[in-house]
Amino acid sequence: MDRGGGMRSEPGPETFVSAAHRADAGPFSAAQPFGVLALQGDFAAHAAAFRALDSPVREVRRVADLAGLAGLMIPGGESTTLLNLMRDEPWFEALRAFHQQGAVLAGTCAGAILLAREVMPAQPSLGLLAATIERNAWGRQVDSFEAEVEVPALGAAVTAVFIRAPRFRKLDPAVEVLGRYAGEPVLLRQGRVVAGTFHPELTRSHALHRYLLELASRH
Ligand code: GLN
Repeated sequence: MDRGGGMRSEPGPETFVSAAHRADAGPFSAAQPFGVLALQGDFAAHAAAFRALDSPVREVRRVADLAGLAGLMIPGGESTTLLNLMRDEPWFEALRAFHQQGAVLAGTCAGAILLAREVMPAQPSLGLLAATIERNAWGRQVDSFEAEVEVPALGAAVTAVFIRAPRFRKLDPAVEVLGRYAGEPVLLRQGRVVAGTFHPELTRSHALHRYLLELASRH
């Protein structure tokens, strides 16, 4: 990390993304399609959210499908299943190169687990987000719940659905906290990487998807 300072377990001062964002603004016209990884999990609802914003969208099933995309959403599902399905092709190399070439990478829930640098219990991950994430970390009683998450960068509160959700445990100072639930970070951004521990695609607000399209258009 270029800002040094090692890992911290308590989030420090936050720097919210300054781009003006209005959740109620009109359709977003993007030139390049945004991709949704369609190997497993809740990809159809993510694709529908992008379409509802009038953005061209492509379901990505092969590495070759990444060509020409502005970004990729890795949906929630089951990260271990996703990892198994990714064995068929060199997905990790392809996604790291895709990111390096300027694309936006987003992940929700299992997708966030895939993006993190460290996963508890340990499993392979892309390591593009300088954070530690713990799987299934909300305990059995609250396996699934719905909550309002304040996200100043989106100019709105987001209705977030947490389903056997992970928790961010350590954040590098280079990581911005975009949203919190009960005081703890649940939506993070590091450059062109955005990761949330909840499902934003199950509600009618597409504020997060719009934010991703805007982020992609700025890079
Ligand atoms: N528990 C899942 C995992 O560990 C994530 C759950 C989800 O994506 N809703 O991968």
